[in-house]
Amino acid sequence: MSARILVVDDIDSNVRLLEAKLSSEYYEVLTASDGPTALAIAASELPDIVLLDVMMPGMDGFDVCRRLKADPATRHVPVVLVTALDGRADRVAGLEAGADDFLTKPIDDVMLFARVRSLTRLKAVIDELRDREASGRRIGVIAGAASRLGGSGGRILFVDDNERQAERICAELSIEHRPILESDPAKALLTARGPVDLVIVNATSKAFDGLRFAAQLRSDEATRSLPILAVVDLDERQRAVKALEIGVNDILARPIDPGELAARVRTQIRRKRYTDYLRANLDHSLELAVTDQLTGLHNRRYMTGQLEALMRRSVAGGEPVAVLMIDIDHFKTVNDSFGHDVGDEVLREFAVRLASNVRAIDLPVRHGGEEFVVVMPDTDLEAARRVAERIRLHVAGSPFRVMNGEELLTVTISIGVAASSGAGDSSHALVKRADEAVYVAKSQGRNRVIARAA
Ligand code: GH3
Ligand code: MG
Ligand code: MG
Repeated sequence: MSARILVVDDIDSNVRLLEAKLSSEYYEVLTASDGPTALAIAASELPDIVLLDVMMPGMDGFDVCRRLKADPATRHVPVVLVTALDGRADRVAGLEAGADDFLTKPIDDVMLFARVRSLTRLKAVIDELRDREASGRRIGVIAGAASRLGGSGGRILFVDDNERQAERICAELSIEHRPILESDPAKALLTARGPVDLVIVNATSKAFDGLRFAAQLRSDEATRSLPILAVVDLDERQRAVKALEIGVNDILARPIDPGELAARVRTQIRRKRYTDYLRANLDHSLELAVTDQLTGLHNRRYMTGQLEALMRRSVAGGEPVAVLMIDIDHFKTVNDSFGHDVGDEVLREFAVRLASNVRAIDLPVRHGGEEFVVVMPDTDLEAARRVAERIRLHVAGSPFRVMNGEELLTVTISIGVAASSGAGDSSHALVKRADEAVYVAKSQGRNRVIARAA
């Protein structure tokens, strides 16, 4: 995945070096040599990542970071602070300024690309989420929940057989999260299938192969998308590379720095939550796409697919399929006399009556406006006509209670009935016949059922 990276450093040779490294991996590079320029470029170009030197004259890296995170337009852009080698104090200050990640000088290529890849993935997810959220807000189905997704309070499975290290890290993690320590990788694989936000695995363990463990997590459907953070030794570059190849999301070098641990864990957990949120949202929008919001019935789009499949079977010599086209009589008068909201109440009440008067295998649908359809598998014209008559009576027979029961409305419907007629018939022709039958019912005085043979 390529990305646009803004490199900010007051020393020109540092900028050139990073630019060369990143360009050779096909990243697009923007550069700035001071804070104000960096802020201007970040705002106008919206890069995917900012690599920000801490030590700069005038506005320093912390200050730039704070301003980027304070501006709603750039808040979501990940910032990686580039600190001095022993930059513990810098890291704490960086976290407070809202930095997403850290790199130490001199910059190690493996670490650099691991960070960039991990943050690019995070950014891609966030961008998609932001898009969806924006369009969700437009159609009114999402209420800004994403902004509440933080990076703390995570359930972290920590897999390590080194007791002293494990206890120290767990103590560190429990400041913000809920760590679960597991020293047996076989048990850890089972635990990971439960509610877990992040797995941290010690890849330097002598007793078990941490990378094999990571690979097993990746190959199991239930744990495939869990973020994994691998602990490696600083001088074991090969293992770090291997870990990234396996699909570990981020690496943490030993000796573990608490500030760095906290920042990386938070980034991974935030990402996991965004992804979960996105997935739940996608399921929700798939459901929205086939459901009518007012009545909760399926919509026309859903019906079309179902009816076509049933028709194909019927035309190929299978069971017949029937369709009822139902149109509420003089519905405009309801709106005109009582208002649109009462009209909506009538539509909802009608949907309930309709759904409770058909079989479980029948498909009641809001076709649009005050028009409804019922698709009836394994039903011939005469059987469908009897069902239509029953529905008509059930609607006309007892008035609709609206406005909290203050008003009783008599509602009637006109129904057109059609059934499949074997070879040569189509779902389109079937619906058209039912439609024509409704027209006849209306012209004969409404509140009636007309069945139309092919
Ligand atoms: P007819 O007996 O010939 O069917 O008369 P009608 O008034 O029912 O038919 P017409 O097609 O003229 O009017 C349908 C009305 O349904 C017009 C439209 O404003 C209203 N309508 C469509 N969708 C909705 C809705 O979701 N809510 C409400 N309240 N009214 C709706
Ligand atoms: Mg109509
Ligand atoms: Mg009508």
